[in-house]
Amino acid sequence: MGSPASTIDWSLDIQSIRKQFPVLHQEVNGKPLIYFDNAATNQKPSSVIKALDYYYETDNANIHRGVHTLAERATADFEETRKKAAAFLNTKEVEEVIFTKGTTESINLVASTWGRKFIDKGDEIIISTLEHHSNIVPWQMLCEEKGAILRVIPINPKGEVIIDEFKKLLSAKTKLVSVVFASNALGTINPVAEIISLAHQHGAVVLLDGAQASAHLDVDVQKLDVDFFALSAHKMYGPTGVGILYGKRSLLEAMPPYQGGGEMISEVTFEKTTYNAIPYKFEAGTPNIADVVAFGAAIDFVNEHGKDRIAAHEEELLHYATAKLESIPGVSIVGQAADKVSVVSFLVNGYHPLDVGMYLDARGIAVRTGHHCTQPLMKHLGIEGTVRASFSVYNTKEEIDRLAEAVTLLAGRKN
Ligand code: PLP
Repeated sequence: MGSPASTIDWSLDIQSIRKQFPVLHQEVNGKPLIYFDNAATNQKPSSVIKALDYYYETDNANIHRGVHTLAERATADFEETRKKAAAFLNTKEVEEVIFTKGTTESINLVASTWGRKFIDKGDEIIISTLEHHSNIVPWQMLCEEKGAILRVIPINPKGEVIIDEFKKLLSAKTKLVSVVFASNALGTINPVAEIISLAHQHGAVVLLDGAQASAHLDVDVQKLDVDFFALSAHKMYGPTGVGILYGKRSLLEAMPPYQGGGEMISEVTFEKTTYNAIPYKFEAGTPNIADVVAFGAAIDFVNEHGKDRIAAHEEELLHYATAKLESIPGVSIVGQAADKVSVVSFLVNGYHPLDVGMYLDARGIAVRTGHHCTQPLMKHLGIEGTVRASFSVYNTKEEIDRLAEAVTLLAGRKN
């Protein structure tokens, strides 16, 4: 028998983890850097940076076609990440993992292939008010091309989708439900299991935008029974320019290719081309090999420290920061969902978010300001944007104290 849950040590040695992130150990504007822009991209541990170097120093070659040793090593390194990603997401088959540039490309791939083939005039696609532009615009483009209709699930004042309203939107016309797992702007975690089950009852296919979920939340695509899942490596300690599209085999096989070129073919004649099997059918051209290899090291990093432990640490930071910031006169938190990832969006009375961001940067504190690529959500909230602090495994309560001190000083000038 395993040990009872109460004996699990949930603590992480944050100081030793911090040592693995070279970028954190610098001063910005004469102050030690505090990096709270993790929802935009988080920092990379030395293991990821070294994997990139190692690949270029020892194994670099083009993959899949070569018979020489370096080509074989490069191919093995690249395919090893596919296996790690498949285990990380618990896909049924390794071939259901397609490498892309990131979440944006993964969603565009589905819109341009599955969407073009299976969406017709009058069909409906449902998204939510919380969506990032990358889960709005590709569907708008598809709807425009096909004469389909985009429906939007409303949210309540806390920033949570209203499930009863979602139920009202579902009908026999619903062909796709594409929603964010966790909102990058407010932190809201959507009740995705319920959304998927309801959508499936109406025969609709479901895509989850997992950009903000993959490093923090349990993602088991088989348990969720989700049809498509999109993520970006750079939001989970990996390199930029690499992502994944997971899709169920039956769907991927029914879809036409995304781009034409090398690698995605089985046979080419001037008269006709036959396509490769999945996943290669969707991976035309030379991919971002080195970064895919380094992404494997990022998956190892998350596994080594344990997603549960990382999430527990981040949750502690979320509650600590929320309590600190909301106790400051003149500060209001935007988005008060019961279930959140470690994102705190806030406003400081009398200041534009941009000014708050610049004031904090002058003190070495990196936050994001603006609409966070969720303009329709900001419009719904009646604001231009927010200041957003988002936390990762290497952040500390002391850093949040420094943020709160700086915000207190600023807010105190006008409140
Ligand atoms: N979806 C969400 C929720 C995001 O936070 C982001 C990035 O900020 C994206 C999609 C787009 O990710 P990428 O720019 O890596 O394609």
